[in-house]
Amino acid sequence: MSELVINNLHVNVEETEILKGVNLTIKTNEVHAVMGPNGTGKSTLAYALMGHPKYKVTKGDATLDGKDLLELDPNERSKLGLFLAFQYPIAIPGVSVANFLRTAINAHRKAQDPEDKGISIPDFRKKLKEKMALLDMDESFAGRYLNDGFSGGEKKRVEILQMATLEPKFSILDETDSGLDIDALKIVAHGINTISNKDQGILVITHYQRILNYITPDFVHVMLNGRIVESGGPELALHLEEEGYEWLREKHAV
Ligand code: ADP
Ligand code: MG
Repeated sequence: MSELVINNLHVNVEETEILKGVNLTIKTNEVHAVMGPNGTGKSTLAYALMGHPKYKVTKGDATLDGKDLLELDPNERSKLGLFLAFQYPIAIPGVSVANFLRTAINAHRKAQDPEDKGISIPDFRKKLKEKMALLDMDESFAGRYLNDGFSGGEKKRVEILQMATLEPKFSILDETDSGLDIDALKIVAHGINTISNKDQGILVITHYQRILNYITPDFVHVMLNGRIVESGGPELALHLEEEGYEWLREKHAV
């Protein structure tokens, strides 16, 4: 079992403190949801954990199985088993989905074993085919340039395809539900559920309760103004759906 531990994390973006002491521990096989209104720092948490240079950690720490994440480059964090599915995935014209994924897989394999020669083409094709089927993606996607001209929903599927092929220990999914219609949401959720059965920890960041109808979290946390102010089980998400966030603002005076 692995453990991602976030302890008293404070993060500045351009001199403004956005995260004001976040505590969160995620173990493999657990699904956690972080909910909260827009602008409370949910994406900031995701970016800071992944090591985006704009998000400066001023206090606190984050470790994966005791290893300090904050001193590592984003690619080293990835090799350790951390994955972020972006809220706004970027396009990389000139790099096909297949090439991108194979390069990423091989970089991870090399990190485990410097002698590794990379995944064979037939093995890679088989894996990609299997994972694309899981996400109900047409095989033609493999040859297209990464996110270039993809619809919002297609971009989100490619993010989950990355997660499925890289098999990280911990995945942070930043608003993977936004921009998905209900059918796409069900497919993506099914993909995430299938993947998460295999010794992975997942942090689902979401604005809406909707995705949690399909991915049942073990723990739900509410972030307000840069802090997790309330934690509970799946019932907390349902309660928020009915009551909104106002009662929590009053309760915690934020
Ligand atoms: P959420 O994901 O919960 O909607 P964010 O983490 O994106 O919230 O943003 C939290 C706050 O930080 C917002 O006030 C936002 O304007 C600010 N912020 C986030 N990223 C940046 C950035 N790159 N540059 C400037 N301000 C930012
Ligand atoms: Mg966000």
